Amino acid sequence: MADTYDYDLFTIGAGSGGVRASRVASAHGAKVAVAEEYRVGGTCVIRGCVPKKMLVYGAHFAEDLEDAQNFGWTIEGKRFDWVKLRDNVQTDIDRLEGLYGETLANHDVEIYRERAQITGDHEITLASGKVVTAKYILVATGARPTLLDFPGAEHAITSNEAFHLDALPKRVMIAGGGYIANEFAGIFNEFGSKVCLVNRGDQLLRGYDESLRDRLLQISLMKGINFHFNTTFKQITKNDDGSFHVELNGADDMDVDLVMFATGRSPNTQGLGLETIGLELGDKGEIKVDQYSQTNVDYVYAVGDVTDRVQLTPVAIREGQAFSDSVFGDGEPRAVDHSCIPSAVFSHPPIAAVGMTEGEARNKIGNIRVYQSDFRSMKNVVAGRNERSLYKMIVNAATDQIVGIHMIGAEAPEIMQAAAIAVKAGLTKADFDATTAIHPTMAEELVLFK
Ligand code: NDP
Repeated sequence: MADTYDYDLFTIGAGSGGVRASRVASAHGAKVAVAEEYRVGGTCVIRGCVPKKMLVYGAHFAEDLEDAQNFGWTIEGKRFDWVKLRDNVQTDIDRLEGLYGETLANHDVEIYRERAQITGDHEITLASGKVVTAKYILVATGARPTLLDFPGAEHAITSNEAFHLDALPKRVMIAGGGYIANEFAGIFNEFGSKVCLVNRGDQLLRGYDESLRDRLLQISLMKGINFHFNTTFKQITKNDDGSFHVELNGADDMDVDLVMFATGRSPNTQGLGLETIGLELGDKGEIKVDQYSQTNVDYVYAVGDVTDRVQLTPVAIREGQAFSDSVFGDGEPRAVDHSCIPSAVFSHPPIAAVGMTEGEARNKIGNIRVYQSDFRSMKNVVAGRNERSLYKMIVNAATDQIVGIHMIGAEAPEIMQAAAIAVKAGLTKADFDATTAIHPTMAEELVLFK
């Protein structure tokens, strides 16, 4: 291809969606280039899912080392070294970034490590001033943390900076009640910081099943995390000792060492020249696409967080793959199925879910059966840890089909990945009942619901 254009495909953004789309397009025979202004790998690899999960592992040792005592272990002189963990995590992120770059290079994808902007029809101008043309353009620029706007808001950090802190803050205030807020509340709390979460509404983790959200709140409170609901920010001022004085609407003023915003992520569509070709954006600045990730400009596509469909890495990867298979493969258009996507929150303990919540199922189906198992794991019993897991199964009473599974407890995301196959495949409660338990496990609760 690429006879009248420099490239068949020019991808803007080398994150999860952009990298997958670029290498697959190239494997289909297209001449591909990708531009990345920051680091190859994108949010997930560089400052999202991957380093976060490493911190979650690190944080969990706090409880494991405590629990170990009832299992007969004496651990003397235990001490946590944040700088050591931080640096080890960053070393591995460097390694992964290298691997992503290698993957692109091995697929003959040309990488421009600079910002790119659309400057005309099929035309992209790089920060260096170089102008290139492409038959197709893929925008995969992801999203960035949404910042709140009030006096002193500039003193707050976001998850982007949380991975690079010089030292662990003694007192942390986190704004938001979603994924990042709950995950980092757990991380900082396990490391010994005093954590307080400030949420504008009265609900955590909107979209997740209410029983699980309540359970996470109870357990988080028990672990010592504070919550202020229906509370907003008035002002942050810096104290002489470097800490911050936070004034709130709905709660007393507080002095903390770190304020972190975890208040959603906004699509990265500014400064990309999208208006020069009349690309249509939605209310949140997201690129509007159809089921094939095609925009209103027929040669421009967009995948991943910049489209604000489902802000999850595996979804962006699927969208990137489908785009390249559709456009550069056999010509058969492929839409990504956005239904029944399993998800997890890596809180302490984690939550995992697939399908409808009980509330959704009651509204949409009406006639449902709800199975629930509320149990203390064998490990927690011996450890003397008063922390109960909760598993829920939602079944369409008319068809016996399982329409949702929801879990909070150790390893819930690991267990959910397999259970989600069954829900996606439309299996029934009877299918689960017909499966013999693996004993003793926590997961066996899934086939023992009565
Ligand atoms: P979430 O959408 O999960 O949560 C945002 C939180 O911020 C909500 O509590 C929301 O409140 C609140 N909020 C939004 N706007 C404001 C505002 N103007 N003022 C005060 N509070 C506000 O976003 P996150 O930032 O936690 O994460 C971004 C996305 O990244 C997630 O939606 C998810 O898709 C992805 N992600 C996935 C992870 C995973 O898979 N484990 C981990 C981390 C992120 P309200 O409920 O009232 O709207």
